Amino acid sequence: MIEVETVRGDAFACNVYRVGDALVDAGDDAERLPPADEIDAVYLTHAHADHAAALAEYDVPVYVHPAESDAEPLSERDVRELRDGDEVTMDGVTFEVLHTPGHSTGSVCYWSPDERVVFSGDLVFDNGAPGRADTPDGDPDALRESLERLASLDAEHAYPGHREPFGDIAEKTRIAVNLV
Ligand SMILES: [Zn+2]
Repeated sequence: MIEVETVRGDAFACNVYRVGDALVDAGDDAERLPPADEIDAVYLTHAHADHAAALAEYDVPVYVHPAESDAEPLSERDVRELRDGDEVTMDGVTFEVLHTPGHSTGSVCYWSPDERVVFSGDLVFDNGAPGRADTPDGDPDALRESLERLASLDAEHAYPGHREPFGDIAEKTRIAVNLV
């Protein structure tokens, strides 16, 4: 069973998850992150500042979808691009990269069919609220499609970018689709 540690999960900042030597997202405060020499890579769900600003002081390879590899928080970082269908390994567990735009153009999820775990970024939260799509890089139609894709995964545990991890993903997603 995969071990996921929430490095930080208060209501305002983004959640940072540690899986072995990897982080999913980085938040906006480098002081709260594990020392960089304990971490091999950061896998971003997207490059909005609340998820990525801490990288300015955190010198490890950063994985992100090409649509956001030029985002400001990643300037001068060691950026590696990830596309839909790519696979990454965290703590020995294989995750599929799913391009799930809508909240932002380059949003991705990291999905492990073996563990039935998904790092879902800002697609949907534990209360069924969808991620915002009314931002300059948001797209409500794309968000609805991405939510349908998340619902089709048969995932058991979702680790979102904000609020609490949750189950009942198909149900939460169904609520969210109607609220986009
Ligand atoms: Zn965001």
